Amino acid sequence: MGFFDKFKLSRLKEGLTKTRENIFGKIQKILSGKTKIDDEVIDKIEEILIGGDVGVSTTLMIIDDIRKRVKAEGFENPEDLDRLLREEILKILSNGTDNNTNPFTLPVSHKPHVIMIVGVNGVGKTTTIGKLAYNYRNAGKKVLIAAADTFRAAANEQLEIWAKRAGVEIIQQTQGADPAAVAYDGLNSAISHKSDLLIIDTAGRLHTKINLMEELKKIKRVLQKLDPEAPHEVYLVVDASTGQNAIQQAKQFTAAVGISGLVLTKLDGTAKGGVILAINQELQIPVKYIGVGEKIDDLQPFDRKAFVEALFEK
Ligand code: GDP
Ligand code: GDP
Ligand code: MG
Repeated sequence: MGFFDKFKLSRLKEGLTKTRENIFGKIQKILSGKTKIDDEVIDKIEEILIGGDVGVSTTLMIIDDIRKRVKAEGFENPEDLDRLLREEILKILSNGTDNNTNPFTLPVSHKPHVIMIVGVNGVGKTTTIGKLAYNYRNAGKKVLIAAADTFRAAANEQLEIWAKRAGVEIIQQTQGADPAAVAYDGLNSAISHKSDLLIIDTAGRLHTKINLMEELKKIKRVLQKLDPEAPHEVYLVVDASTGQNAIQQAKQFTAAVGISGLVLTKLDGTAKGGVILAINQELQIPVKYIGVGEKIDDLQPFDRKAFVEALFEK
């Protein structure tokens, strides 16, 4: 069976409960009181989508398309709107989004594969690294983690705990060490120990004397001394509960270090999960993984069909 067996899908549905109630619960309520599609129904749906953090421009795109299709294809039954909405959302999620049929595999062209994890404080970077390491290890990969958030006192310990849980090795230095030096050590060690995957944790404080973006650029430069292709991926972790703020963060990090994929965390705690649509539409950066809880197996490869199914679950 694929990744989205019954258990994973039910965790996804559970995790999306608040978003589902906030957006699709409300839409279903509106539709159930109607016998015919009219402008008022479509206006209400527009309001709900904007209120659900889907973003104004993304919402207008969806609504425009729906109006056109209702007219052109002559839909009258409110239940058709439910289906049209699903199709529109799937379409938006296909913008730059991978369909993860085979998650937790690595390219065979090089080794070690290097993933750098970035994002502002508290979004869930360290937790995501623990979850990723666990999944890759379960997939039979040899994983190493580098603790390049050397700024916070507790950062090393926290990452160490996750490394233990995931059953993988960790490279670290003392607090205050140069993050780029830790990354360099990490890649050196990953090369000499023939690791399949190196995951690099980084600090998230934006407003400090040392400019975080400069620090991240330096990490990249130093890695490239050992492997000109590294890091092969830079994942930006964003907290879904920050809503539209996540888009601003993505723009900043994209400008500074380039982002190859997004990890959207804390979908379980928020009603603002609609932001995933705005992110796909506005940024065209693929959402790679979503976090649906604090536990080690609460990370899921983003699968747009499973996601839409979970959102529309009645
Ligand atoms: P970092 O500062 O970016 O490294 O963030 P941490 O990994 O330390 O996480 C900050 C908090 O967010 C912790 O309390 C995590 O347990 C919590 N967290 C991370 N991912 C998720 C998630 O997907 N769901 C929930 N509910 N909590 C999460
Ligand atoms: P201050 O209050 O502006 O002096 O700075 P903090 O007390 O927040 O941090 C102390 C020092 O730690 C700063 O002067 C920086 O040299 C360093 N620092 C701050 N943020 C970071 C970070 O994200 N990464 C690293 N490596 N160092 C940082
Ligand atoms: Mg951290």
